[in-house]
Amino acid sequence: MDCIFCKIINGEIPSSVVYEDDLVKVFLDINPTTNGDTLIVPKKHFKDFRDIDNETLTHIYQVINKLYPIYQEKLNCDGLTISHNTDYGQDIKHFHIHFIPRYKDDEVKHLSNKEILLDIDKVLNKLK
Ligand code: 5GP
Ligand code: ZN
Repeated sequence: MDCIFCKIINGEIPSSVVYEDDLVKVFLDINPTTNGDTLIVPKKHFKDFRDIDNETLTHIYQVINKLYPIYQEKLNCDGLTISHNTDYGQDIKHFHIHFIPRYKDDEVKHLSNKEILLDIDKVLNKLK
């Protein structure tokens, strides 16, 4: 399969590996949002949250718990944003968690087009 993350996992493409075990490879994002911007990637190719198995997902959350105190200590981060894109916004169709250390002065903003935002009551009605 022509998948960049499968190639990183099998060593065909080099990466800056932070942590690795039987189920996941954890490496720095090549285009970081903050210092230490990291990707947690299962070794098995899952496309997104709809097909990843619970065992791997639980393991990923354990890895997040293990890594965060290390990043706090070594990088002095003040917080953590974890995210996962699906469909629109997901460039690489191999499940990965963005593990983004946050810093008080990082100025990371969640940009959105306020002009297309509906009143939240309208949104709630659509969801009901
Ligand atoms: P997505 O848009 O799929 O949620 O995120 C893909 C992420 O993978 C992006 O943040 C991008 O910078 C990162 N990325 C893409 N290609 C490579 C690569 O070859 N090596 C590394 N380390 N990260 C990559
Ligand atoms: Zn893959």
